[in-house]
Amino acid sequence: MQNLYADVIVEISHEKLDRSFQYAVPEQFRERINIGSRVLIPFGKGGKLIKGYVISLTDIPAIDVKRIKDIADLLSKEDNASPEEQLVSLAVWMKRHYGGTLIQSLKVVLPVRAEVKEKTRRIVKLILPAAELAEKLAEFSRKKQKARVRLLSALAECREIDYSLLRDRLNISLSVVRQLADMSVIDVEEVQEYRRPAIYDELSDKRFSLSSEQQDIVDDFAADYDMGIRTPSLIHGVTGSGKTEVYMEIIAHVIERGGQAIMLIPEIALTFQTVMRFSRRFGDRVTYLHSKLSPGERYDQILRAARGDVDIVIGPRSALFTPFQRLGVIIIDEEHETSYKAENVPKYHTVETAAERARLAGAALVLGSATPSVDSYMHAKRGEYKLYELKERINKSTLPEVHIVDLRDELRAGNRSVFSGKLKELIEDRLNKKEQVMLFLNRRGMAGFVSCRKCGHVIKCPHCDVSLSLHRNKRLVCHYCGYEEAFDQTCPECGSKYIGTMKAGTEQIEELTLKTFPGARVVRMDADTTKKKDDYQKILSSFAEGEADILVGTQMIVKGHDFSNVTLVGILAADLSLYVNDYRAAERTFALLTQAAGRAGRAEKKGEVVIQTYSPDNYAVKAAAKQDYIDFYEEEIGYRRLCNYPPVGHILKILIEDPIEEEACRMAEKLYEISEETAAGNVIGPAEDSISKIRDIYRYALYVKNEDYEKLVLVKDACEEWRLSHNIGKSTVQFDFDA
Ligand code: ADP
Ligand code: ZN
Ligand code: ZN
Repeated sequence: MQNLYADVIVEISHEKLDRSFQYAVPEQFRERINIGSRVLIPFGKGGKLIKGYVISLTDIPAIDVKRIKDIADLLSKEDNASPEEQLVSLAVWMKRHYGGTLIQSLKVVLPVRAEVKEKTRRIVKLILPAAELAEKLAEFSRKKQKARVRLLSALAECREIDYSLLRDRLNISLSVVRQLADMSVIDVEEVQEYRRPAIYDELSDKRFSLSSEQQDIVDDFAADYDMGIRTPSLIHGVTGSGKTEVYMEIIAHVIERGGQAIMLIPEIALTFQTVMRFSRRFGDRVTYLHSKLSPGERYDQILRAARGDVDIVIGPRSALFTPFQRLGVIIIDEEHETSYKAENVPKYHTVETAAERARLAGAALVLGSATPSVDSYMHAKRGEYKLYELKERINKSTLPEVHIVDLRDELRAGNRSVFSGKLKELIEDRLNKKEQVMLFLNRRGMAGFVSCRKCGHVIKCPHCDVSLSLHRNKRLVCHYCGYEEAFDQTCPECGSKYIGTMKAGTEQIEELTLKTFPGARVVRMDADTTKKKDDYQKILSSFAEGEADILVGTQMIVKGHDFSNVTLVGILAADLSLYVNDYRAAERTFALLTQAAGRAGRAEKKGEVVIQTYSPDNYAVKAAAKQDYIDFYEEEIGYRRLCNYPPVGHILKILIEDPIEEEACRMAEKLYEISEETAAGNVIGPAEDSISKIRDIYRYALYVKNEDYEKLVLVKDACEEWRLSHNIGKSTVQFDFDA
């Protein structure tokens, strides 16, 4: 019998992960030992027994076998109580479900240990007597000193605020702070350690009484929680229906029972208001993580959580791995957001991974969204999740009136402008009334797809329900089945020569807006105008303060911001995301359009929305116009069932990259064979990936479809195993489940 060796790491911390030691696996452990197993091993000169984790198993010794010691004991799974051990188990689960090495997964779940430099922090305090506050505020707003108004209004609510929060989330510069300090309105205190984002004199005791819809959810959750029932819940409620208030009550209940909470939100939704709202409710038991924290600050916050100094961590997807000792609930707001999917290996899905983390910790999982992912909603419909609905907005503000404009009619009527007659008329009306307008350009999926300007026809693959992409060699290619055809610059539907890839970007839209509405003040928000770290917040606050009449932007303008003076939203080309090479295209389009439409008329003034589209009859467009999720879901799940797309069936994308095209191709062919063998059919490709080359690296992809997720895991394992045993070429291989 061949020998078996285990590579073991002895200390789990980010930096030590790449240093492993090899041990022999004695006969009696062979059957049970696995990647991720905890073992006792003799270590160092004295041979003291210490704990370690198996990260890989092999039959090839790395060093002279005489120097390899035996594993002393294999520890059982049951007693892994510490959060660190749970995170290692989670990493093992992630490695199995999403591919890559265990080390790659461990690096995702374990905090980076980083020195926290003794950095001075500034705490801004209000010292102006309360009686003079209103007067000062009035004076600043009269003089249009907006930053001062922002700062003072924040301090009016809360007497001390960490300067970094004011800077990152409220866009207040140090010079503004200094000016007010010179005027003795505020005081700035320098402290050495990180304390907390904001301090309130008293926590908010004037809590709302919850609506009966809200209260029912909280009561039901609490009853289940107390009985130890841990079925995940999905809260489906339009924006403004009071979900966040429900999350906070749920968290309060969990804390009361001695638990801790992880509150995940998409980075972009993490605003000053969010942090303040949680701080006001939970005081200094809250902390938040975001991408602008330095590694040191981040580690500091994670340490506080591990020590139990805080009960709540708010943050983007990486906050899921906060090493809480007493994790009681994980909440994922806007659970449908694409930012919950990791871009790098392991390409994990946050909702699934959170479910596993919750299971390991015995915690509850709560998802919330105005437009739930088809995936989550299907689980809810099947009874695997509890489904809660919040049907009304709290302030009873009515949904906006939606006009759908058929762009083909516009063209027929001789209007070639990007503004339909209806949209132009309404924009002029708003400019006259001094109300604000948001123009949203749906740019998702702009890459490559070809459409006819005359009839709106989009060239699609005859074998799949996806659009073809135009490649540099003037051929139209399907990325799902590899079908190709020549492109001859004419519309196959109507013969028009006005056919090609869409190019109109936000910059052109901005120019056209200025030209069409002379005198209007226009700001633009897209990837180009938000390169610096506070650009995003700057543009939004200037728009909120009425410094512009029209905000033009990409999808980044539709996320979670309330502008009370916006009464018109124009969606310039609703279809652009409908025809991307992606079975989720309709789902994304529906979510985007619904959110964009929801930006209009948030306050007392009634809003209107104009959706300009070439596909007025498309179900995603129609359902979004009615803001009817159920309608959309029913159509969409039918389509997924028909094609066996996720969440009904599953797809594994295998991406092969290599600087030498032939190598990438060869590897792809080999993995195709292995996949065919393992999954018995249903392997599509290999073909060039939709982006066939990035930075001189060639990309090939193949897709494996199967109803059984486990089958796909076996395919992945077989591919990985083959690669390990045949160390050929430099190709990298990535796995992406339900991509
Ligand atoms: P969502 O998270 O669904 O967008 P929020 O929880 O933010 O909704 O609620 C929207 C607004 O309504 C917030 O300003 C919130 O303070 C307020 N609100 C929520 N619940 C209540 C309630 N029961 N009574 C009064 N106001 C409420
Ligand atoms: Zn045409
Ligand atoms: Zn096809």
